[in-house]
Amino acid sequence: MGEPEKTKPLSKEFARAFGDGCSGLVETCEWCGRLYFGTGGDYEKDEREKYEAKAEKDPDNFIAVDDFSSTLMLAGKTYVVDCPCNGPWRYEEWVWGQRFRILKYIQARSRIILDDAVDLKKLLDEVIEKHDKAEATVAAQEDRDG
Ligand SMILES: [Zn+2]
Repeated sequence: MGEPEKTKPLSKEFARAFGDGCSGLVETCEWCGRLYFGTGGDYEKDEREKYEAKAEKDPDNFIAVDDFSSTLMLAGKTYVVDCPCNGPWRYEEWVWGQRFRILKYIQARSRIILDDAVDLKKLLDEVIEKHDKAEATVAAQEDRDG
């Protein structure tokens, strides 16, 4: 058994970039299991009291928050933004650590799409040019034939 793994808080930029824009009255952080419940929303009868009782017994895992909790989905798991487990922190570390490789990769993939689009544009231009020539030929023929 080693020391507990040290995590790093996610940056606001990472949360903003990968946040799903969702927020909920009751959200569970699937990276650690903590449950967050808002203090300002509408609950079923006795539901909020149930969470408050759990928070009193287990304040580390049942946490009251103002209003709603923002979430982001990463690797198929919901992370509650600002949860102290910092669940997806390794993803941010990886993305930032590999940023130049990732940018080169995006550039390479985009280049393929751009090259295909340029080829398609050339083909379309040829088709349009042939169509215009054919139309002009037909018009000239019709003028000659009266
Ligand atoms: Zn968590």
